[in-house]
Amino acid sequence: MTHAERSARAFEQARSCPACGDDEIYRSMMRGALERAFHWIWRVRPYRCNACYRRFWRADTRPRLGATR
Ligand SMILES: [Zn+2]
Repeated sequence: MTHAERSARAFEQARSCPACGDDEIYRSMMRGALERAFHWIWRVRPYRCNACYRRFWRADTRPRLGATR
């Protein structure tokens, strides 16, 4: 497997549900200060699977814009 293929595969996995593998996932609402803190510190956000309704955390796919906040 080439590096490009591995990257594409990792991207595919990042876009699919870890429980059932369905790729219809969508961003879930962040609830409360704790989840906002998770997002702020680790750049992760909650997602929900459209097939099995499992909720899970994924890295925020948007790149950081600069180092300042
Ligand atoms: Zn699922």
